[in-house]
Amino acid sequence: MKRERMLATIKEQGDTPWDIIVIGGGATGLGTALDAASRGYRTLLLEQSDFSKGTSSRSTKLVHGGVRYLAQGDISLVLEALHERGLMRQNAPHLVKNQSFIIPNYDWWDGPFYTLGMKVYDMMAGKLGLGPSQSLTADEVLRAIPNLKTEGLCGGVIYYDGQFDDSRLAINIAQTCTEHGGVVINYMRVTGLIKNSDGIVSGVEVVDQENGDTYSLQARCVVNATGVFVDEIMHMDDPGAPPLVRPSRVYTSYWIRSF
Ligand SMILES: Cc1cc2nc3c(=O)[nH]c(=O)nc-3n(C[C@H](O)[C@H](O)[C@H](O)COP(=O)(O)OP(=O)(O)OC[C@H]3O[C@@H](n4cnc5c(N)ncnc54)[C@H](O)[C@@H]3O)c2cc1C
Repeated sequence: MKRERMLATIKEQGDTPWDIIVIGGGATGLGTALDAASRGYRTLLLEQSDFSKGTSSRSTKLVHGGVRYLAQGDISLVLEALHERGLMRQNAPHLVKNQSFIIPNYDWWDGPFYTLGMKVYDMMAGKLGLGPSQSLTADEVLRAIPNLKTEGLCGGVIYYDGQFDDSRLAINIAQTCTEHGGVVINYMRVTGLIKNSDGIVSGVEVVDQENGDTYSLQARCVVNATGVFVDEIMHMDDPGAPPLVRPSRVYTSYWIRSF
């Protein structure tokens, strides 16, 4: 996976259109590129920074079925997520590990409620489960979490989910994509979209962030997989399009003066 070799490939490609150009080298873009390359499409992925520099290296690192989605009653989502969790554990055991969680119970009905809920969660995982959940006594909970509030503690439930290394997974997906003939290049920023005479997107303008070289690359299909930056690319196509993404929390930075 040498950058120079990847750059040489796009120079050789010249004006011949790629089947698919993917913008963004996070989990979504890399997954899309791997899927396309493994189906035999001439695939190019462009990432403006390092692979998984965006949200894909800043997740909570959980590969979970989604206990809270179960509580919300979204059964099909939980089934799919549990299945994918199991496949990830099978396919990438070097990146996915078993992580235990304890739900402490402070009301008597929490015990049967969570024990039953977690047993349903186990059953939904089927053969791909990571371990059976169990109810715990208050003493067992305190042995595992000694600094927990003891007042009113009547027990707990332990269950198992997965934890993974998100950025290493991204790099592994990039490697697998190249093994299937895909071309993935980092530090390549898409600065504009090329359109054909019908106004349909037919390529991208790119700047190599390393040396300022520019490229005009043609494609039959361009995928915008830029995560929270999705609107920036979308507005290159349609400046008037309503935004797709809204921040749920805005951080303000300010100076703290010490006296
Ligand atoms: C706080 C938090 C916790 C989370 N925890 C979990 C978790 O525990 N488990 C889990 O599975 N998921 C979790 N997620 C969700 C998961 O992290 C995201 O769904 C996923 O990383 C999104 O990937 P992405 O590829 O869509 O976006 P990103 O990873 O942000 O990738 C977009 C990429 O596009 C690139 N880009 C942008 N503009 C351009 C341009 N003009 N040219 C070229 N490249 C460009 C960016 O540099 C970036 O690398 C969490 C999310 C958040 C916010």
